[in-house]
Amino acid sequence: MKRKETWEQLEARLAVKRKGKKPEKNVTSEIMVQKMASVPSGRLKKFEPMDTRDFVPYHSSELSLDSIKKACEEFYNQPSGSCDVLASDRGPSCSRIEQVKGKKFFMIRFLAISEQANVSKTCASKSTNHNHDDNDFQKIPLINPPSISITKLLRAGKLVKSVPKNRVILIKDEFVLQNLDWFQHPPDSFDVEENQFSHGAFRDAYKAFCVKQRQHEQQECWVLKTYRKEAEDTVTNDLSLTLEAHAKKQVQMHSVAKAVTEKFRSLAPPDLGETFEYKTVFYTTYKGKAATVEPYVEGKFTKYVNNTGEVQRGRVEVVEKAECLVHYSYEYSNKSFMLLDVQGTGFQLYDPEIATKDLFCKSDSTEIMFCAGNLSAIAINEFVSNHHCNKYCELMNLTKVHC
Ligand SMILES: [Zn+2]
Repeated sequence: MKRKETWEQLEARLAVKRKGKKPEKNVTSEIMVQKMASVPSGRLKKFEPMDTRDFVPYHSSELSLDSIKKACEEFYNQPSGSCDVLASDRGPSCSRIEQVKGKKFFMIRFLAISEQANVSKTCASKSTNHNHDDNDFQKIPLINPPSISITKLLRAGKLVKSVPKNRVILIKDEFVLQNLDWFQHPPDSFDVEENQFSHGAFRDAYKAFCVKQRQHEQQECWVLKTYRKEAEDTVTNDLSLTLEAHAKKQVQMHSVAKAVTEKFRSLAPPDLGETFEYKTVFYTTYKGKAATVEPYVEGKFTKYVNNTGEVQRGRVEVVEKAECLVHYSYEYSNKSFMLLDVQGTGFQLYDPEIATKDLFCKSDSTEIMFCAGNLSAIAINEFVSNHHCNKYCELMNLTKVHC
């Protein structure tokens, strides 16, 4: 209680200062601090908390990044210049106090001084309104060069042939679910590998590298997916859609899967632990034909729930959570659709399907809802009749579907 009061006193003093009145000076207070790991971990690249939060004595009458860092360095007995304030548990590092959300508590981490130099330089180059003066950088040692493994250095002793690529300009069309409309991003140049690295029954997947980055930087890797001849025939003959319309519907469906998964994520209690996410998929054209492009996800592909509603065998955590997500999507949509084909790498999902209770669109009885993989009531019934709620369904307070 006492601590809460001192925090409120600090807030009150800051409020007074914002209004232009003279604050009281030399009043000691406290800030609440969450110390985080120095480096992010896990598939989601999160900074994990190191311990419970602490109240750190704070001597300045003004809330500033420098004073927060100084207070934390003193409290945790860390060298001067080693503290870094994070904007969230997924970064980035803050360079201005305005970037700290909420200001109820501060997420900090400690870095080796050379790492701190990198962070400061990054903040400075990204920020147009930073408050560092030149003296800040005089204290900072030089940046370490990126480390390259010995194996890689030795492989460079042998002639390396470049992977054949096509340099193309892709225009990414994003489906904005809130507006039910499309947003066209400015064109970007990509180097698309000539040979596919993977394929499904319907589509071929090619790695594509965004070329706006400088050569020595790790290039952003994307996946460009084009439709195979068989898919083109199915889409045009069986679904009576153009390839463009089908590709766009695939992007729309993905945005629905992403929105439902984000809602699930926002409602998941901490006890549920790590949960799923989808990245954004864009519509584009490649060699004059409809295609999609999305960020590349590194790692082993696993299917958790099929588009038939069948769940992968084995009671592993990720599969049980996938089942729970499917159950949630059904309850969330008032039993009008079910997110299926839950698959991907760990908790990073891609290539979903959605099964709808009504196969055809209400406004047009010839158009199938979502995409060709919509197995409608067959898939929904398969899942419902075999699903037994697990501990994650209970944590999400889902109503039992199995009767
Ligand atoms: Zn359930």
